[in-house]
Amino acid sequence: MPRVRPSWQRHLCPPWCTVVHTEQDHPDDRTHRDDGVALSVVARRRTFVDSTLVERTEERTLILGRWQRDGDRRRWFFLGDDEGLELELDEASFVRLIHSMSALATEAPTDVDGHPSATKDGQPGADESEGDPPAAWREGPSSAF
Ligand SMILES: [Zn+2]
Repeated sequence: MPRVRPSWQRHLCPPWCTVVHTEQDHPDDRTHRDDGVALSVVARRRTFVDSTLVERTEERTLILGRWQRDGDRRRWFFLGDDEGLELELDEASFVRLIHSMSALATEAPTDVDGHPSATKDGQPGADESEGDPPAAWREGPSSAF
């Protein structure tokens, strides 16, 4: 059954919009949104206890999603969680973020001195299996902290 388009709605829903819009929607809620994606991550949290820096890892759930105010061409990308983290980026910023993070993630691993990691064969990075983070990322807390 086709949706009935409310009189306030200026543009058709983008293909990713999952909202059922109604005539009674508050003006602040007249946005197109998707259902979002819940992403489980392991995050590092650093806090000071007295004057000592304490690091710990914790599992968290990030929510990623898109939204667009009806009548506005800008599409926003949301990254947030239920602990107050909230970031909304325009599409160009989001694409730059993804490219920059991807470049960081695929950068050749280095040792603690910044030299390419050597393997048993003497080949940089050959001991990294595909999909695994660089060895430096898997190590425990650095003694530098
Ligand atoms: Zn919509």
